[in-house]
Amino acid sequence: MTYTKETIKQEVQAHKVEFIVLEFTDMLGETKNVELPIDELDMVLNEEAMFDSSSISGFSDIQESDMYLVPDLDTFLVLPSLVDEDQSARFICDIYKPDGTPFEGDPRYILKRAMQKAEDMGYTVNVGPEPEFFLFKLNEDGYPVRKFNDRAGYFDSSPKDKGDKVRRDIVRTLKKYGFEMEASHHEVAMGQHEINFRFDNMLKTADNIQTFKNVVKDIATNHDYHATFMPKPITGENGSGMHCHLSLFQDGDSAFFDEDAEDGVSKTMKQFIAGILHHASGIAAITNPNVNSYKRLVPGYEAPVSVAWSHSNRSCMMRVPTTRGKGTRFEVRNPDPTANPYLTLAVLIQAGLEGIRNELDAGEAESRNLYEVDDDSVPTLPTNLKEAIEALKKDEVLLDALGEHTAQAYIDDKEEEWTDYSLQVSQWEVDKYMNK
Ligand code: GLN
Ligand code: MG
Ligand code: MG
Ligand code: MG
Repeated sequence: MTYTKETIKQEVQAHKVEFIVLEFTDMLGETKNVELPIDELDMVLNEEAMFDSSSISGFSDIQESDMYLVPDLDTFLVLPSLVDEDQSARFICDIYKPDGTPFEGDPRYILKRAMQKAEDMGYTVNVGPEPEFFLFKLNEDGYPVRKFNDRAGYFDSSPKDKGDKVRRDIVRTLKKYGFEMEASHHEVAMGQHEINFRFDNMLKTADNIQTFKNVVKDIATNHDYHATFMPKPITGENGSGMHCHLSLFQDGDSAFFDEDAEDGVSKTMKQFIAGILHHASGIAAITNPNVNSYKRLVPGYEAPVSVAWSHSNRSCMMRVPTTRGKGTRFEVRNPDPTANPYLTLAVLIQAGLEGIRNELDAGEAESRNLYEVDDDSVPTLPTNLKEAIEALKKDEVLLDALGEHTAQAYIDDKEEEWTDYSLQVSQWEVDKYMNK
């Protein structure tokens, strides 16, 4: 939807909107917001809404902590009220500095810069994400406990599937948010679900992922469940991924489809894939951003471990589904839903474009089940956050994609997270070593 200041004012009046919610995303992928009474609408539209950014992760450590929230008019939305009668409307915002220039640590800006690089090469990119999540029960105090809400598995139906009503409610609500909804289903693990929405350009998709996650959490709470996007909540069960399907266009045509190629896949696509494979270890620091992420990336749970591509093999980091023509695309399988979607798409596109620029070779598609290949012939993804961060620190292409400010802040934050984790004594250790 394209809005102008005038049409926004009309909508606000027509819906008797009382509050304006200004949203943005911090470095770690959390949605943040500040709410203003509707009387401040003119001030917001005049791009004068200021906030103190010093306690926002990835925004601090700068001399100037006063920042401006500049509403992206296209993201205006009168919010379907989920809990009460309040009428509010939201904008997703870009962050600007007092000198009127964009803040280089704003994840949305980092993605826009990456999109511009693609555009400079004549490309536009579409992304379709597949976020998975678990529904857990709440205890009497309303806090989540690790108890599944059902005993169902992949594609199971009601009455085994106890999440169907929650999923329907989520789909219904997201439609009111303007989402084009696709399939939803019970996932492999007990209490695990997946809901798909239609692909869009990278910025819109990243915005949508943020909105999606918040709606899922809200609706789950309404049903007295807790929704978690934690990548591996339960040992020995499938984890939650967020596969991303990417397609590339040049002058309105697929740059990934080649009808003369035996497999229908263009050279450009193979170079793009090669670029992502080449930078896979550093990319993981962004797409698999926490200590728990690496407990998902292990053999046997449909999550990738190998830095390889294939046509159907789910043990590979990248897979090319069978659709050809405009739908020719690849699926990156390692990202999980705790990743910052703006940074995730920014590093994926930069790595892919680098593959095209340098005409990198992706090699042959992998046809073996790599969970069962026990030699060094195929490189593997980092096995923990520390390895991924070390790889990111050495990857100039990815550091450039993030920009100096965010690269430094991100690495510092994640190194601290790793140190913190390493100092913990876990239950597993106690059980294993107590009798030594
Ligand atoms: N949950 C799996 C993962 O971690 C994916 C399973 C699926 O989509 N079939 O990536
Ligand atoms: Mg899926
Ligand atoms: Mg799935
Ligand atoms: Mg998938």
